[in-house]
Amino acid sequence: MSSHLEVADPGRLSLEELRQLVDAMVGGYLPTLDQMEGLLSLDREGAELLFQGADRVKRSIFGDEVHIRGIIEFSSHCSGRCLYCGLRADNRGLERYRMGEEEIVSCAREAIDAGYMSLVLQSGEDGGYTREVLGRIIGRIKSYKDVGITLSIGERTYEDYRYLRDAGADRFLMKHETCDEVLYDRLHPHSSFRRRMECLRQLKELGYQVGSGFMVGLPGQSLRSIVLDVLLLRKLDVDMAGIGPFISHPGTPLGDSPNGDPFLALKTVALARLVCRRPHLPATTALGVLDRQGRDMAFFSGANVVMQKLEPHRYRRMYEIYPKPHGEDLPIAEERRRLEALIEGLGLKVSKGRGDAVRP
Ligand code: SAM
Ligand code: SF4
Repeated sequence: MSSHLEVADPGRLSLEELRQLVDAMVGGYLPTLDQMEGLLSLDREGAELLFQGADRVKRSIFGDEVHIRGIIEFSSHCSGRCLYCGLRADNRGLERYRMGEEEIVSCAREAIDAGYMSLVLQSGEDGGYTREVLGRIIGRIKSYKDVGITLSIGERTYEDYRYLRDAGADRFLMKHETCDEVLYDRLHPHSSFRRRMECLRQLKELGYQVGSGFMVGLPGQSLRSIVLDVLLLRKLDVDMAGIGPFISHPGTPLGDSPNGDPFLALKTVALARLVCRRPHLPATTALGVLDRQGRDMAFFSGANVVMQKLEPHRYRRMYEIYPKPHGEDLPIAEERRRLEALIEGLGLKVSKGRGDAVRP
């Protein structure tokens, strides 16, 4: 590698030198920790080069296709106590709901009829749904159509994970949230970083396509720790990764903390694309809440996926991880049509596939 790649702070490089560094990364060069920290510190002009590099890598893998995943947030009950999340058990100010088996299956069928080939079943850590109930729901959706099914239901036993995999679940999303073990353990009084890593290992062993990810801008998180988060995704060799800004919720212990910086989140997505290459990376809902244009820009900065909520609107209002605007109450098919129009309006194509993992 040429000597300019040894420079510690890309923020101080000329645009031409930065261009060369990004070109090298497009070709597979793994930057130093200092270089990555510098890339996350870039101003708008410099970041444009980072975004273009990430876009080139994304297009080489996914072309100009955006994959739409439908997400059914089926329960807002949670026994977890994550300090940042509005669904935490201690937040007594929240009205809670659980969708019944029939309701979940019929929501999934309506989504499949509207063109969804990939569904995420997400909830708080809710022991009210046994593995048998969840397994039956997965089986009923699968027998309607063999869509990709992702679970995002938090920490469970190995037996549960095995049962649900056997029942037909293809993928599992479990973010590592932050790789700073001390910070992680402080933010998750009911669990630990070690436990989360063990869950991710088990899920992989069981043959799930595994997704992880983290928040940007957690109180107490450093820029160096965000770089290490990106490297952890690479080490875990994840199939998907959700990277979005932290948004403060007034009903949580972090209610007075500032929101994460959406521009930094966007640069982190771009860095993740350049460093990890193959994972599906969503333009996250959290990014869209803080910066609508930023979310659309993410499709040109490394992201290739977007998630669309599917559960009835009366539930969406109650699934308050963080405060968010409530959209128009439209049928699932109409919401999809509008999202497709938005993607096509950006000059991109809507994928018709299931959005399975791209394996090397
Ligand atoms: N309970 C499951 C779990 O924790 O994996 C799945 C649902 S949980 C609500 C999904 C994700 O929401 C978490 O992985 C976390 O990254 C994100 N989240 C929670 N609170 C957030 C906040 N205040 N700002 C941004 N993202 C948040
Ligand atoms: Fe529960 Fe997940 Fe929120 Fe933690 S992040 S409180 S486990 S819903």
